[in-house]
Amino acid sequence: MTQGRRLLLATDNRAKAREYRMLLKGIPYRLVTPAQLGVKVSVAEGGSTLEENAISKAMAYARASGVLALADDSGLEVDALGGEPGVRSARYAGPEASDRELVRHLLDKLKGVPWERRQARFRCVIALAWPEGRVKLFKGECPGMIAFEPKGRFGFGYDPIFYLPELGKTMAELEPGRKNEISHRGRAARAARPFLETMDKSA
Ligand code: IMP
Repeated sequence: MTQGRRLLLATDNRAKAREYRMLLKGIPYRLVTPAQLGVKVSVAEGGSTLEENAISKAMAYARASGVLALADDSGLEVDALGGEPGVRSARYAGPEASDRELVRHLLDKLKGVPWERRQARFRCVIALAWPEGRVKLFKGECPGMIAFEPKGRFGFGYDPIFYLPELGKTMAELEPGRKNEISHRGRAARAARPFLETMDKSA
């Protein structure tokens, strides 16, 4: 009896949505986008934590659509910058900055910082929200280093400068399936998957 059940991917970020389609393949929900439901929600990411932002996005979309909504807020924490850009990752180089500008801005901030001090991590918080107000969170992290120059053509955002020492590659050099195996979003989605697969009675 799962045919009619829908899960709204509460994001306008097409790259994120593509990753979720792969990560959530096979769950007993039909994944739908805000555009497919004709839902337009504008949520200011004004919270001081990824958790707060993920919750407010998911709740706003669930209320507006009447459908179970999945929102993610993610960010990059760089140790040498005291954890910045963190919750401000998307806006670090200004409100309308492109991925290329974000990468350039971060590299400028890290000018002169030697390799051994370039540790960082991606964090992802997934919020699942039901129209009646219930919310559940799932989290994932992925450690790495900030490279000196961008490399790779896959992924989005800071992927070209996020270097994975154990693979000897940046995140943007990994094919999408490989990125999902190790990424912060992959880990959070794998934490959410068993819940989505078994909660038929509560949905
Ligand atoms: P938000 O979660 O939509 O607020 O976006 C956070 C920002 O963090 C994005 O605009 C990207 O710049 C960055 N980010 C989040 N996830 C990833 C990722 O998987 N790879 C690269 N950058 C990411």
